[in-house]
Amino acid sequence: MQLPEAMERLVQELSRLPGVGPKTAQRLAFHVLRVDRQRAEALAQAVVDVKERIGYCSRCYNIAEGELCAICVSGRRDPALICVVESPLDLIAIERSAEYQGLYHVLHGVISPIDGVGPDQIHVPQLVERVREERVAEVIIATNADIEGEATAVYLHRALAPLGISVTRPAHGLPVGGDLEYADELTLARAMAGRRSL
Ligand SMILES: [Zn+2]
Repeated sequence: MQLPEAMERLVQELSRLPGVGPKTAQRLAFHVLRVDRQRAEALAQAVVDVKERIGYCSRCYNIAEGELCAICVSGRRDPALICVVESPLDLIAIERSAEYQGLYHVLHGVISPIDGVGPDQIHVPQLVERVREERVAEVIIATNADIEGEATAVYLHRALAPLGISVTRPAHGLPVGGDLEYADELTLARAMAGRRSL
């Protein structure tokens, strides 16, 4: 059966979401049809609000409501420490472990020559710039423990070590090849506490 045009469009849009296949998209679309108008509008409005109000921090590229993110404006963080992560979700995971009190730098990707991603396509130049301009003592490279994450760590070490700062990597114990985002809080806290020099 051909779905009505508006239904078909909703299924199409939902199936573009990560991890949502065509069947799940269809089930979600029928769910939207079933709920009362208020719920459906709240969902649509939440999507619009995120796109209108949330952007990226001009200093560390974490998500931000305004020019700077909540971590960068907080007076309680140690500005001599910068933890480099691949995505804002990794930052959230490290924050959950409540071990780390420094600032962050979100790369929004990893160096991956196969996919044509070089250091200039992610926020590497901005990190080097920050280390030059801010009073940074240590950069902790918390990229994932997979091939691209390790290669990115090696690249960053080479770029940052000549600037006379300490460059470290969280201790192993992180799932190898796994996503930092999914590591449990205790594992992350231990890995951050037991970081080693690169
Ligand atoms: Zn920030």
